[in-house]
Amino acid sequence: MALEELYREVILDHYRNPRHKGSLSHADFHAEGLNPSCGDEFSLDLAVADGVIVEVATQGQGCSISQASGSMMADIIKGKTVAEVEEISTNFKLMMAIEEGESPIDPARPGAVLGDLEALQGVRKFPVRIKCADLPWTTLADALEAAQS
Ligand code: ZN
Repeated sequence: MALEELYREVILDHYRNPRHKGSLSHADFHAEGLNPSCGDEFSLDLAVADGVIVEVATQGQGCSISQASGSMMADIIKGKTVAEVEEISTNFKLMMAIEEGESPIDPARPGAVLGDLEALQGVRKFPVRIKCADLPWTTLADALEAAQS
């Protein structure tokens, strides 16, 4: 299977079967995001205990890129510390900003293992869709900002 086709399958799987969908009755932090250029919506509930994200729930509607990114994000952040999640988020942004011909992120960086999220690197070819992929992560940043204030 060609890499692009594999990426498409991974994205569609998350879009059709979003992980950690729903809301938390006891969320410690909540944030909502909107990507007006595509009409994507995303909301996020987090339960945090001792600096660890113990529960995640997301809701949203919009294109497959935004919703798949949110599902992948929920998957990867659950059980991680807030500090680890910030590293992952930084690496995700770095990955999305890599231009053709540039080297991939150094796998030795902390939080460099992005798993299914790597499927979103195909979106880099469509700059307008990068905002779709970013939406859950900007929403997460808003939630974590609230966590630290
Ligand atoms: Zn979108």
